Amino acid sequence: MKKRPALIFDHEKIRDNMRTVVGWCSEAGIDVAGVIKVTGGLASAALDYEACGAKWIASSRLEQLARAKEAGVKIPMMMIRVPMLSELDEMVKVCEYSLQSEYTTLRALDEAAIRAGKIHNVILMADLGDLREGFFDPQELIDVAKYTEEVLTGLHLAGVGTNLGCYGSVMPTEEKMRHLVRCAEAVEKVIGRPLEIISGGASSSMMPMFDGVMPERVNMLRIGAASFLGSNEETCRIYGRKEMDILHDDAITLEAEVIEVRTKPTHPIGKLGVNAFGKKAVYKDRGDRRRALLAIGGADFGDYNDLLPQLEGSFILGCSGDHTILDIEDCKEKLKVGDVVRFKLYYTAILHLVSSENVAKYELGEIGVLL
Ligand SMILES: *Cc1c(COP(=O)(O)O)cnc(C)c1O
Repeated sequence: MKKRPALIFDHEKIRDNMRTVVGWCSEAGIDVAGVIKVTGGLASAALDYEACGAKWIASSRLEQLARAKEAGVKIPMMMIRVPMLSELDEMVKVCEYSLQSEYTTLRALDEAAIRAGKIHNVILMADLGDLREGFFDPQELIDVAKYTEEVLTGLHLAGVGTNLGCYGSVMPTEEKMRHLVRCAEAVEKVIGRPLEIISGGASSSMMPMFDGVMPERVNMLRIGAASFLGSNEETCRIYGRKEMDILHDDAITLEAEVIEVRTKPTHPIGKLGVNAFGKKAVYKDRGDRRRALLAIGGADFGDYNDLLPQLEGSFILGCSGDHTILDIEDCKEKLKVGDVVRFKLYYTAILHLVSSENVAKYELGEIGVLL
């Protein structure tokens, strides 16, 4: 019997999305770094991306890139979380590219590359106001770029990049993209040659591309969410991008099993303290309603607002660590114990589910083939 709860990866749909995304970018003169971190680093997702025309495989976790390489991915690997000093030796073995924002790390990375007999490619990050990683002072970016170019013989300065919409919620506007290009051009002036790469951000940076206002020189985007979530991708959900509607929003879905079905009151009975998460909760009295109890909980997916039940008429009433309560009073379909309920997923839920050992993972379809 199939194990549940189960996370289902549909490779036909994942590849459909990747082909569409890579196609859009390619029309705009942009190469895609396929970011696999939301899948927990499925090697099959990396093989799919390679088959669909991505130029790099990228992740924030070294182990995930090592697995992809092990699985036979041939395109270069890119580490997109600024690396720890403690992982540089491993990183130069696994990755050909990385994002960088510290002078100290670049110097240590140079030594690690020389020790390994390799030339490692770096993209220096400019912080344009989102306030996570990156050089904030443009002069510091230029000075470190010059130093990397002239002194660090184990490194190749491949380009300049930025990240937006992560910590600071800053939108990747045309103005931010132009600012990035100005940073890159200031570096080029000092090093006296063109940079190969200007890396304009993540899935959210497809917005200026859709609007046709992406500066020509931005030639790389690092894309994960759009390919795996389609229109469930957060930035698209918030900014309502219609372009994304043609992507599958059910390439990764969750199946949970019903363990109890009963009609119960909707307001708890007794003196109320706190819930399973130690929080004072508010309960709306909707009278008696039919509910299905599911064998999955917050310990598996985080916040139940990141799950979208596919059973028509149902909605999630709440959850504890290992249980989820689904209101099914208004459903035409009658559920019984042992039935399965499907969910579409938002980003954070997938991120939790892929790392829950309580959740089985199933892959549908062939991996890494172009139809
Ligand atoms: C996660 C991440 C990405 C990819 O973001 P998506 O929203 O999944 O496309 C790109 N760049 C960096 C630095 C990241 O951390």
